[in-house]
Amino acid sequence: VSLPMEGDLANPIRGVVRCRPCMGLGAETCISLDGARCSIERPGDGIGPKSFEFTAVFDGTASQQQMYDDVGAEMVQHVLEGFSATVMAYGQTGSGKRHSLFGPKPEPDATFSEDGKLGLVPRAAKKLMQAAQSRVRGMRWQIACSYVQIRNEQIFDLLSPQLRECGVQDVQGKADIKGCAEVEVTTKAEFKSLYTLALSRSYIEPSNRTDLIFRFRVQTVDSLGCVVSRILTFVKCKGSERQSKAGAEGMRLREGVQIGMSLSALGNVISSLADRRCRFIPYRDSKLTRLLEDSLGGPAKTVFLAHISPESCCCEESLSTLRYANRAA
Ligand code: ADP
Repeated sequence: VSLPMEGDLANPIRGVVRCRPCMGLGAETCISLDGARCSIERPGDGIGPKSFEFTAVFDGTASQQQMYDDVGAEMVQHVLEGFSATVMAYGQTGSGKRHSLFGPKPEPDATFSEDGKLGLVPRAAKKLMQAAQSRVRGMRWQIACSYVQIRNEQIFDLLSPQLRECGVQDVQGKADIKGCAEVEVTTKAEFKSLYTLALSRSYIEPSNRTDLIFRFRVQTVDSLGCVVSRILTFVKCKGSERQSKAGAEGMRLREGVQIGMSLSALGNVISSLADRRCRFIPYRDSKLTRLLEDSLGGPAKTVFLAHISPESCCCEESLSTLRYANRAA
């Protein structure tokens, strides 16, 4: 097990941007990418030009394989070395968060073996399964998956046969999900059947209102029975677009307010982590940040994967996503 490098501790959250391909023929775009810089401008109404720099920036030609090689692989490696890691997909609805993490929406005739389209989660699983099947120096690997959704500050288990509500429990001073299924997987085939269910369930609820958290709990047991446990977490944040209050009342309005609060709680945690002088990290302000306390900060690595849509009509939301991600970069 290698110790975390000084540099890793100094910069625990990195900001990376993925801009999806332009949709719709002839749609105007407001984004230009150059190396690790992302610039945004819509001259018509005076937005920008503004330019931001990130750890890395990917345009619409970046393949799923490239995203894994450049973003996912390092996280998986960190986990294999004994530490936790998190990939957080953020951005407005329709910007490609689920695409990056999971892959395209399952079609009835699509098969799991369409490798080129798989997202970070199944690619990470493949690598973890390979490690689990090796037995270096008598080390045994155990990998268990869990998958929950947070909507309206309520957590639901997506791997249980019925959508079941879960709680939050404190384990050694840190919050963990209480009562969600953790399904042990040892082979690619086992993962495949679990993942197929997970993928279809990630499309049940509208993407704009729910956070999805897919976790691999990875444990190694050495020949003396010593256990090292860490978590690889993938988070699809709820859509970051501003909630329209117009016409919303009752439940809808409350939900909108809650979405705004939980996104600002996440932003505050990210800024505090990025600011090395900050000693207090406000994890307690939302369910999502509470659950992430164990996997953010310290020797854990986190990539904040901001998603933007290039079309000019999305300019305001893209600008706000870039500003938000810039807190991490
Ligand atoms: P979100 O989860 O942010 O709401 P989705 O991942 O569902 O967005 O993406 C919206 C649509 O755009 C989907 O049809 C998805 O397949 C497509 N899409 C997103 N990113 C890409 C990409 N990089 N390449 C090709 N299609 C993409």
